Amino acid sequence: MHYFDHAATTPPYPEVIQTLTDIMSLYYGNPSALHRAGEDAAKLLKKAREVCAAALSALPSEIVFTSGATEGNNMAIKGAAMHYQSRGRHLITAVTEHPSVYQAFRQLEELGWEVTWMPVAGDGTVDPAALAEHVRKDTVLVSIMHVNNETGAVQPLEDIGRRIKEKNSRVLFHVDGVQGFGKLPVSLQNWQADLYTLSAHKFKGPKGAGIMYVKQGVQLYPLIAGGSQEGGYRGGTENVAAAAAVAKAMRLSAERQAEFYERARRLRDILVHHIADMPELMLNSSEHGAPHIIHFSYPGLKPEVLVHTLEEGGFLVSTKSACSSKSSEPSRTLIEMGRNADEAASGIRISLGWEHTEAEVRELGAALKSAVAQLAPMTGRKG
Ligand code: PLP
Repeated sequence: MHYFDHAATTPPYPEVIQTLTDIMSLYYGNPSALHRAGEDAAKLLKKAREVCAAALSALPSEIVFTSGATEGNNMAIKGAAMHYQSRGRHLITAVTEHPSVYQAFRQLEELGWEVTWMPVAGDGTVDPAALAEHVRKDTVLVSIMHVNNETGAVQPLEDIGRRIKEKNSRVLFHVDGVQGFGKLPVSLQNWQADLYTLSAHKFKGPKGAGIMYVKQGVQLYPLIAGGSQEGGYRGGTENVAAAAAVAKAMRLSAERQAEFYERARRLRDILVHHIADMPELMLNSSEHGAPHIIHFSYPGLKPEVLVHTLEEGGFLVSTKSACSSKSSEPSRTLIEMGRNADEAASGIRISLGWEHTEAEVRELGAALKSAVAQLAPMTGRKG
């Protein structure tokens, strides 16, 4: 089976699996306990925090371990909105954010916050100058993702960070970094990011684990009330094995990011070249986007039928993103990029990982062509 769904999740590094099993079997102490088993676990947690911080050129005290980016995004966005509401109740985000950001803002709107929803251009990017024009004295937070999970569109974060801070130096900048880390260069310092969230399973770490970066001096209203773990932001006994495994995956992915980028770009170019002559295929990911995500529409073809036909040939790809692939609604992201309902309902996402070879990508291209040729006559299309 050829797995081409790395934007949904990735196979863990063998070192990550080893770390998880070693720590779960040998260091099961509670890090808050005063005895030796507790101290050993606390040391591992401290080390994990240092490694994650180093991968982001951050301070260990700026790293909060979470259960992943859905939790991290909710904590960062709602936590900032609630903590700083005396400064104002205006927030800004984009219409194509992941549901864990989009729905968090929707909830805040229901609770009385004012949200400005930035539109995107045809390539899925936000206009930084237009965004900055909306920043006001009472704007507390701007949240823009690094890489779009459906199309791979890369947002101009450095430009956005600079412009919003010029307009109002107190405004906080949150970046959902899930699809970019380990794939593209990350610089929280150049982006002037105050909050940054990751899910480890997107870069070969464990599922149900991630981090939230909270810049020194920034405060959040803690959504999870309880003990003083994780700087008081997330009460509850820490998952030491997961934290150590996140750290392992972060270090390996950060070290190999430039190599991954070059590799994915080469494979993306081969695939795109291979399928470029398919009639009626509409590419939704731009060549300036993240190279590991290739997204296209084939209007008229039911994407789930194409996915199943490809699966019969041994290739696993996805329709839309993993969290929305079971809904029959057209993609919100594609509609916002100006695609019509038919185009937005016929999207296929192919996402690349470390494991792929040029030969495998060529085979996928050929399988795609033959699947479309087989299915298109049923819809009256050219194939
Ligand atoms: N943000 C983006 C851009 C994502 O792609 C995802 C997962 O698909 C998330 C947030 C949420 O991550 P998780 O499901 O691991 O909580």
